[in-house]
Amino acid sequence: MLSFYLLLAVGAGASGLIMTVLTMFYRSPAGDSRKLRPPRPRPAGVARWGANVALNSAVSLGTVCGLTYWVYPLFYTWGAASIGRIILEGVAILLIYDLLYYLLHRYAFHEWKLGRRVHAVHHVVKTPSAADSLYLHPLEMFLGVALLWVSTGLWVLIVGPVNVYAFAWMFFVYSILNVVIHSGLELPAFPFAPINYLAERHQRHHLSMTAGNFASVSPIFDWLFRTEVRSRD
Ligand SMILES: [Zn+2]
Ligand SMILES: [Zn+2]
Repeated sequence: MLSFYLLLAVGAGASGLIMTVLTMFYRSPAGDSRKLRPPRPRPAGVARWGANVALNSAVSLGTVCGLTYWVYPLFYTWGAASIGRIILEGVAILLIYDLLYYLLHRYAFHEWKLGRRVHAVHHVVKTPSAADSLYLHPLEMFLGVALLWVSTGLWVLIVGPVNVYAFAWMFFVYSILNVVIHSGLELPAFPFAPINYLAERHQRHHLSMTAGNFASVSPIFDWLFRTEVRSRD
């Protein structure tokens, strides 16, 4: 199990590093010409923001470690698998997650009264930068991370245990995407055009509780359910 934790630590470490670099760039003079929009005032003070981010880092780490430990014998296999199988399993779980997160975000967090109060914490920041991916209600952090294990559980129920490397690359991509969609930056089109697109659509989402763009991993379910919003403001 220690080896598996180390695999997951690669994804967590990479996303932490990318978050730090993108946030520092956003706040540097060089980042001014790259911002998607002029930064709007932030209602939360620095101390309150830092306490929330520290708490959510702990909640995220605890949820990942706890859920992994809990389901380890049932969910994962170290058995040999082809590269194709490893790619397919990761993509399938990401797609299941993207759909479930879309539904949770659109209905539980944007339409249910209690859910809106929880999610409003994340929406306080109208023009996020990368570190704001950790600024949210701890319950939302827990539910968002736990949903990845729920998605994996559905795959395991239908198909059987998931290859450890499939889960690890999927977790790597999930962790990094969650950071880069909050970058608030428009980086050089090559090679960052897909990331710029995801960052723009998520920042558009932050501007209003009534905006679309609910999915986080891909735009697929916003396209399917016609909730994609492309306007810049
Ligand atoms: Zn966000
Ligand atoms: Zn939202």
